[in-house]
Amino acid sequence: MFDFSNGGGVRRFLTDLIFPTRCPFCDGFIAYDRLCCEQCMDECRWTDENICPLCGKSVIKGCLCGKRLYDACICAAYYDGNAKKAIMSLKYEHDTQAAEVFGRVLRDMLSVRGFDDIDTAVPVPLHRERLRERGYNQSELIAREIVRGTDIELRTDVLRRKPPRAEQHTLAGSERSDAAKEQYESTGVSLEGKNVLLVDDVLTTGATLNACTALLRAQGAARVICAAAVTVE
Ligand SMILES: [Zn+2]
Ligand SMILES: [Zn+2]
Repeated sequence: MFDFSNGGGVRRFLTDLIFPTRCPFCDGFIAYDRLCCEQCMDECRWTDENICPLCGKSVIKGCLCGKRLYDACICAAYYDGNAKKAIMSLKYEHDTQAAEVFGRVLRDMLSVRGFDDIDTAVPVPLHRERLRERGYNQSELIAREIVRGTDIELRTDVLRRKPPRAEQHTLAGSERSDAAKEQYESTGVSLEGKNVLLVDDVLTTGATLNACTALLRAQGAARVICAAAVTVE
């Protein structure tokens, strides 16, 4: 379905001599010009017709269109099996290669879906302390791969993650995580008339995408299309 060649090139070839290219899913060695191995490509549960093309959630388990603020959402894979492991390594083990695979698939999906008028890509931001701990924002890495070779500009100065609120400590469990998900603010950058691609790693309840979409629209965005590497069933 997708071409998993990464374009190769001399630089990639030379890097491969020192740091052999590994499949982000199974960690097996792969040719320097591939992004993942054939077996993992077959085993990964890429999204199918059971995913709602508008909200990005399963139509069998219940789509989120009733609460959806964004125009549409594309997702590369189900949060399951090797895709789930790849996302965990991307977030917690500094294994950033999965961002290339998912970003590449999402870029292809954008054109398949006819979303070829995107002006600006905006990754969901991390709080700066988390960014410092991790060293990178995984959603930004995915966004970088989506825009590679396109005319889409990547903006990381549009949204900001607010510091956790003191009263959050009084909330328990899911209440706390729900509140945390809406902790975003606008930086005031104008997006007047722009078609924006909002990029996240995992689509769960849609709360993050909805909160960020509301901010992007307040900044003037004409359309907000979301792209998430994986969707939770
Ligand atoms: Zn593999
Ligand atoms: Zn839906």
